[in-house]
Amino acid sequence: MTANSFPDEAHPIAWPEGFKAAASFTFDVDAESCTIAHDSSSTRRMSLMSHQSYGPRIAVPRLLKILERQEIQGTFFIPGFTAESYPDVVRRIVDGGHEVAHHGYLHEPMQGIDSATEASYLDRGLEALAKVAGVRPVGYRAPWWELNWNSPALLADRGFLYDSSLLDGDAPYRMAVAQDDARDIVEIPVDWALDDWEQYAFYPGVTGSGVIESPAKVLEMWTLEAEAHHAQGSCFVLTNHPFISGRPSKAVALEQLIERVKAMDGMWVTTMERIAEHTKATVNEIHSHARIEVPSFPGAGASFKPARVRETALN
Ligand SMILES: [Zn+2]
Repeated sequence: MTANSFPDEAHPIAWPEGFKAAASFTFDVDAESCTIAHDSSSTRRMSLMSHQSYGPRIAVPRLLKILERQEIQGTFFIPGFTAESYPDVVRRIVDGGHEVAHHGYLHEPMQGIDSATEASYLDRGLEALAKVAGVRPVGYRAPWWELNWNSPALLADRGFLYDSSLLDGDAPYRMAVAQDDARDIVEIPVDWALDDWEQYAFYPGVTGSGVIESPAKVLEMWTLEAEAHHAQGSCFVLTNHPFISGRPSKAVALEQLIERVKAMDGMWVTTMERIAEHTKATVNEIHSHARIEVPSFPGAGASFKPARVRETALN
């Protein structure tokens, strides 16, 4: 790799000319979907629904104004159900020049589901985004960042360029969709420390501990993360939920963070799609993941498919 490769030693990447690190501001527009998916009776709770609808109704317009003022493009991961419920909001996001990406249909729980069920969620989400906004997304983020071993192949089957749900790197990389599959997609890893939910989310009996952190503390914490990514030349990916980070003081802190990140010398502030395109075009290493099976006792030893790296030709 070239001179501005950096020490996420597993995932070397050279950023475009003139840049030494990358940053992307992402927004998961869960709205009501994440509560309904876990408890369908939550639709009977008027206050809970109002807490969730604050996202598309009040917060997204505010956040779009911030992005416009800061002259940056964001990436919005939108469940199909949200798109169908708030079509005008989704069209406004598209009209603002931002990226719309896939985030399930009803923000379904992903743990333990089979491949056919997961495929149906993907297809229904794609249909909704196409119908509402004429969008065919290239990016995917699993609800709750919960990717299954089958997920990468399902994404490749549908032509997705990238996923952003895994937690095993500081920089984007190409991942084999399975160990014995020649296809790959780009992975742009995330980090629970860079998700607003853990800082701010609270609804009695639904989520959170009751502690809602100060935006000043969160701004400091996220600034430190951005500075560290910038210093080592990796990729800062912030995940916001409009119903959380679109509230007044949090939105102010977010805009201050955007200003700070933009001011970092050589920081490429862009969409996840652009980062994924760059990764696909310039990285020739493809990583397969270690797959661990539970050992049996007495058994024949560990069953473990180790991670591998292979090289491919660039187009
Ligand atoms: Zn979500």
